[in-house]
Parts: sequence; C-alpha cells; structure tokens
Amino acid sequence: MDTLKRRKVRDLLKAEPGIEVLAKGWVRTKRGNRQVKFIALNDGSTINNIQVVAEAGKFDEQLLKDITTGASIAVKGHLVPSIGSGQAVEIQASEIELYGTCDPVRYPLQKKDTSLEFLRSIAHLRLRTNTFGAVLRIRNAMAFAIHKFFYDKGFVYLHTPLITESDAEGAGDMFQVTTLDLANVPVHGGKVDFSKDFFGKKTSLTVSGQLEGELGATAVGEIYTFGPTFRAENSNTPRHLAEFWMIEPEMAFYDIEDNMELAEEFVKFLVQYALDNCMDDLRFLNDKYDDGLVERLRSVLGIDFERVTYTRAVEILEDAVAHGVQFEYPVHWGTDFQSEHERYLVEKHFGRPVILTDFPKDIKAFYMKQNDDGKTVRGMDVLFPKIGEIIGGSEREASLEKLEARIDELGMSRKNLEWYIDTRRYGTVPHSGFGLGFERLLLFVTGMANIRDVIPFPRTPKNAEF
Ligand code: ATP
Ligand code: MN
Repeated sequence: MDTLKRRKVRDLLKAEPGIEVLAKGWVRTKRGNRQVKFIALNDGSTINNIQVVAEAGKFDEQLLKDITTGASIAVKGHLVPSIGSGQAVEIQASEIELYGTCDPVRYPLQKKDTSLEFLRSIAHLRLRTNTFGAVLRIRNAMAFAIHKFFYDKGFVYLHTPLITESDAEGAGDMFQVTTLDLANVPVHGGKVDFSKDFFGKKTSLTVSGQLEGELGATAVGEIYTFGPTFRAENSNTPRHLAEFWMIEPEMAFYDIEDNMELAEEFVKFLVQYALDNCMDDLRFLNDKYDDGLVERLRSVLGIDFERVTYTRAVEILEDAVAHGVQFEYPVHWGTDFQSEHERYLVEKHFGRPVILTDFPKDIKAFYMKQNDDGKTVRGMDVLFPKIGEIIGGSEREASLEKLEARIDELGMSRKNLEWYIDTRRYGTVPHSGFGLGFERLLLFVTGMANIRDVIPFPRTPKNAEF
C-alpha cells in the first residue's frame, strides 16, 4: 500500500479516472447492503467527500464493521468514473487499512443534534465537522489574501509586541501580564510594587499594535500588522472575543481620503478572493446557514461604499426615531453608535456598506487628527451589513503641539508616551491607518452569526477551554 503516494481528496476529485490511488481520511458516512459498502471519505482538504466502494466479499467482515462514522482509514484502489455519488470519480477499493476506530455510541458528532452551540462545548472535535472545515479553509484563504494584498502593494509586515506597557493605548480593558505571586504581592507605600515584576513595570497584553505600527510607517512608509489582540471587555456579544486577530495597516503620507480608499479596496479584494477561491465552502455555508450569503458577498463588490459624516448620520437616525423606528439605545450627537444604529444605516437607510467619518473627539482616541471645528476628529469606521463596525481607523494627528495638548487634556501620562510622541518631534508627516477585525471580516465572509464560530478556539468571558 505504501509504495503508492497518498493524494489528497481535493486532488483526487479532479483527477482523471483509470489510475491506482491511495487516499487517507476520516469516514463521514457508511451505507450500503450486504454485498457492497459505500464509504464517504473526507480528509479536510475540501468540503467534498470521495466515495469509496468496498465489495463485501473482498474484505474482512470485522474490518467493514469497524469502519464507522469518524473512523480513520487508508484506502488503496482504482479511480473510476462515478455514476451515483454526485462526484465525477470514486475509488473502487482493493485494500483498506484501519488506523483508528471510533466508537459510534460515544462519538459526539454521531448525534443528529450537533447545533453550533453544542459543538462549542466539544471544540476539539467540532473542527472535524463540515461547517468548521469550511470555516477554517476560508479563514486560511483570507489570511493568505491579506498578506498577498499588502505584499503586492509593497507594504512591510511589521511584528508588533504582544506584551506592552499599560495605559498607552486606551482602546479597551487590558489583561495584565505578571509573574508576581498573586497570593503575596510586593507592596510599596500602599501600592503594588511593580518594580519587582518581571519587566520592572506594569505590563499587559496588547489591545492594538497601532502605536508601534506608526513607528514603522514613519520609518519604512507603509506597514501592516496581523496578529492577536486581547481585550478584557466583558461584552458577551456575538461580535466580541477576548482574543481576536487584527490587521492594522499604517501609512505615511496618506490622508483620510487615501485611508478610506485603501480600506474599501482592501475589503473588496478579500471578498473577491473568497468568491474566486472558496466557492465550494461558501456554497456549503450558503445552503446550510444563510441562503443570502453568496449574493451578499457579490453585492458589496459592484458598488461604492457610502461616505457620510457622523453628524449627518445622527440626523438620519434621529429622523428615523421621529418616524417611529425604535432603538434599544438612545442616539444623539455625542453618543457612540451601537451596532443597531450602524446596521440601520447600512441595511435600512443606505443599503450598502457605509464609511462614517468625523466623530466627536470625546468618543475617539487621543491620536486622531483634530478638525478645525474644535469638536470633531478625522476618524473613520467602516460599517457592514449584519455586523456593523468591521474597520475602525483615522488620519493621525501629525502636529506635535496638538497631540501633546490632547494628551494633557485627557489627563494621560505624556511620560509613558514619549517614544510615540517622538514620531511627531522628528520629521512628522501626515499619516493614517486602520484596524480590521479578522473575525469580523470572517463573520461577513462566512455568514456565520456568532463570532465564536469563526475562530478555532474562542476566548470569551468565563471560557478558555481547550
Ligand atoms: P466595537 O465598538 O465594535 O466594540 P471598537 O471600536 O472597540 O469595536 P476598535 O478599537 O476600533 O474597535 O478596533 C478595530 C477593529 O477591531 C474593530 O473595527 C473590529 O473589527 C475589531 N474588534 C474590536 N474589538 C473586538 C473584539 N472584542 N472582538 C473581535 N473584534 C473586535
Ligand atoms: Mn472602532
């Protein structure tokens, strides 16, 4: 058997019949009668199974009995045209080796009720399902497409640290990183003595690589980060994870217009890439969970995203409320939009993705470029159907005086930020950037409804298993 080279199911399904082949994988189903068994074999390389036909007379009876759903096998045989399996070819088995049995009574994926929620409780096995196979392959394709997009444009992939000094970014609540013995914390003057901690100061897991990204952009021009970020926000929503992946491009010499153009081109590229390269998996998810999926993906490609200021968006939402639309959270100038407001703008009012700009400075971070009105900053959020915010970004404040004034105004410590402020001190340039939440993108591309179902091992409040 081992003189033949194993080929993946994805290749075999496209191969010309008439050859000897060796396939390995897990049994999805077995059916048939006393004379012949039909085994649907999957090895994770594609959503599609290859059908193995095993004539009972050729194989040991116990072997065929042990080939149950979930069992792992190697099959040698003849690749022949298939009539009944829905595929062009199938394997006429001549040898079968059983690697591992799978007790049909105990195997959890055997049950009919494999709801997404139930699967989350057996996350080590849910990856074997068709659904997660599809999600994982799409996730992989999107990661590749992200690198391709930026590489082809000459961006430099910058690795920013995961462990950072606290209180610098202000993008969300942070997980502290410490080697101090929590049962016996060193104290000095009534406070925790962080000089005794591993780094000699208080440190946390990063909530964003942006500030370090700006250092890269103001050195090599255009960079992007793509790595995990951590937020200890206690928001148990279908759109928030405590550990998620973020892509953060940062570009010297880009103003907010350039920034919006890049963001729009970027997400359209990714959606197009998915349609071009992941259609089998998209079709599967479309048919199983969300019959508007493929249509919705196509719909964002052909149109321009709507660009609208925050102030105008508030007017639209207030007008909607005046005409009887009900929101759970109130909306007026100065409030941060909730997902329901974002979705109203995208799905009901404009019927297309929206880029919101020029937010009240008090709901945005200190580094955003201040507008001349003294009230707003040059931020931009990209809002998508079904999800709301998928990208948050801005043109950055390039003026040393204005940046320092804003840091002081917010009562933040300039001392901890001197390394960052130096970018404005030595050859400051207009620059911009944004952050795309990788799992938010995947929510859109896969049509899954819960962000926990687009990451292999979700981390959420009270949940860090596996
Ligand atoms: P939201 O208001 O939706 O909580 P945010 O404004 O706090 O998001 P940013 O700080 O702008 O988010 O982060 C940039 C991007 O990272 C967001 O547009 C979103 O796509 C993603 N993101 C932010 N927080 C999370 C999270 N907890 N889980 C998954 N993705 C997230
Ligand atoms: Mn945001």
